[in-house]
Amino acid sequence: MLRLLRPKTDLRTLITLLAIASIVITLANSLYATWRVQRGVLINNTLEANRVYATKLASTTELFFSQAQSQLAWSAKILDDHFDDQNILNAEVSRLRQQTNSFNSVAIVDAHGMVRAISPESLMLEGVQLNSASARQALSERKPLISKPNMSAANNLVIFISYPLWSKSGAYLGYVGGTLYLKKDSILNDLLRNQYYRDGSSLYVMDEDNRVLYHQNDNLVGKTIAPLITPQQRKEQPNGYQQVAKADGTALLAGYATVPASGWTIIAVKPTEVTLEPLSSLLLKVVRHSLPLALLTLIAAWLLARWIALPLWQLARKASQMDTAGVSKEINAIRSWYFEAAQMKRALLIGIGLLQDKIGRLKFEVQTDPLTQLLNRRGLNAVLEYFLTTRQPFAVLAVDIDHFKRVNDDWGHDVGDRVIISVARQLERSARQTDVVCRNGGEEFLMILPGANLEIAGAIAERVRQAIEHTEVAPVEGISISVGVALWQTEREDMDETFKRADSALYQAKRAGRNRVVMVHLAPHESGETELSHH
Ligand code: GH3
Ligand code: MG
Ligand code: MG
Repeated sequence: MLRLLRPKTDLRTLITLLAIASIVITLANSLYATWRVQRGVLINNTLEANRVYATKLASTTELFFSQAQSQLAWSAKILDDHFDDQNILNAEVSRLRQQTNSFNSVAIVDAHGMVRAISPESLMLEGVQLNSASARQALSERKPLISKPNMSAANNLVIFISYPLWSKSGAYLGYVGGTLYLKKDSILNDLLRNQYYRDGSSLYVMDEDNRVLYHQNDNLVGKTIAPLITPQQRKEQPNGYQQVAKADGTALLAGYATVPASGWTIIAVKPTEVTLEPLSSLLLKVVRHSLPLALLTLIAAWLLARWIALPLWQLARKASQMDTAGVSKEINAIRSWYFEAAQMKRALLIGIGLLQDKIGRLKFEVQTDPLTQLLNRRGLNAVLEYFLTTRQPFAVLAVDIDHFKRVNDDWGHDVGDRVIISVARQLERSARQTDVVCRNGGEEFLMILPGANLEIAGAIAERVRQAIEHTEVAPVEGISISVGVALWQTEREDMDETFKRADSALYQAKRAGRNRVVMVHLAPHESGETELSHH
């Protein structure tokens, strides 16, 4: 036989799964989008903040340099007439150093490079010829200068800010200059160091030769490192930002600005990793906030799935019971509220109509005796099954036509058939509405009388016997039947036993001379037979 494959998944599950999938995908998508956007925002904000910070420091540093130079310029103006007055020179250098606090040391040098006055005096350089590169540069260029940082003898980075001295008559006198020790306390040092290093941020101050002038890590100061911002970038954009990598590969978000006066670059950096740390907690928050709605949507989708799938599910269930009675009514009650379900319902109802029609006809053909239109034995069995399940007690009449062989012999088979039909009609006529008449085969019949006791059954049997006795089927005369009666009392015995007892009662009736009714009173152990009547 062909086995129909029955898939386990149903529409409701599929729709629910679809809903779950789309919710999960939507959630994942929005998480991804949030991640992308927030990542961009964090990076851009940090870059911009670093740029602003570096720019501010650069402009303050620039301001410092310009103030330092204007202080020197002021001194140059005072000194133009008094270069020979040692007292004034001394007073001026100590005033510059102590009053302004811009310089670690201040010196006045003449046109030959000889130190004429110096503060602090402890340096003991008065009268000494200065020979450093910056000193020579100041002499040769004769204009305001800020030197490149030099490593001093005491391992100190030093810059030298100088201003030329001219006499009123325009003769070059020398220069006044101040030194700045980058590692020592100075206003510039305070300015750059007084920044906060929390959250992994740090600051680099680099000169044009990529030497570190300032960094929180003192070991780096004075060292030349790979440029974080290339001279090319600095040139194209004096201040800006850039994602860079340190020599060890750490990704950094750098904002930078240049100090025009000294050619320095100030770079504020923050590691990318540290910057993006808040991202994961942010995503968690997004999940937490979107979860309730997602769950609600899920429940709604589940209910909706049930609602959509319900008519189809009901129709599918009924489709497997199409041969059951009353299924049409149940299908009719199914609310098919959308096109597909409505069409299925219609098709199912038409199908059931056709199927049950066919089944009905088949049943009729299978369960009916063609000669008499009575139930055959198979039809009777269906009835008996019903009595068995409903525990309906009944009486059985086993009927057999007497000397039927003779009818056949004397008048032929056709006449015999007519006699059988006539007896069948008589049996039907004598039966009550609820009684069942069956042709048991040949010229034997069975009558089932539900709810009848022996008395009623006997009376009916007798009525049938007499009716047939008075029936004539020309040309046959004197047709008679013998009847055996037995009761089936539901709890007490097997149904087959009842039929056997009815048979044996019939046998008794035959033996006792035919054309009579014999009843079996009770179950076999209390048995006793009664011949009701005889001709
Ligand atoms: P008894 O009184 O003992 O019943 O005698 P009987 O002659 O009726 O004996 P039995 O019941 O054994 O005979 C049955 C006969 O009925 C045998 C068979 O030829 C005949 N018969 C069975 N079925 C049909 C049928 O459909 N049509 C006709 N015409 N005869 C049938
Ligand atoms: Mg017989
Ligand atoms: Mg017979």
